[in-house]
Amino acid sequence: MASQEGSRKPRGTGQREGPPSGSLDRCLRCGRVAAALSRPGALCPACDAAIATEVQARVRTIQESLRTLKAEPNVPGKLREWDRILVQVAALQQYEARGILTTCPPPSALLQEFQGQRAALARAG
Ligand SMILES: [Zn+2]
Repeated sequence: MASQEGSRKPRGTGQREGPPSGSLDRCLRCGRVAAALSRPGALCPACDAAIATEVQARVRTIQESLRTLKAEPNVPGKLREWDRILVQVAALQQYEARGILTTCPPPSALLQEFQGQRAALARAG
């Protein structure tokens, strides 16, 4: 519930390994304190795996829809496919909002790009 925006730690000690004892990081997704995060503000292994699986599935769905889109001759069909794509990208964007990297370019950039293409198609049709 507490929505503190990350305790501000002093930077620039130049240390690379061995986090100082007593500064455990919380997983971005489940909020559990995890001792072995790959970097501060990262995910615990369980969430990392869960998100990777979900992201892969969503990206695959997006790619399939993009293929369907190319083959689809009718504008209403294309628009429907764009809607499916936008739903997936919006889901990925929720991770981005929490600071979790999913795709490159980031979902927000994809969303803008895809919304622009959909709008152009809707105007043309
Ligand atoms: Zn977690």
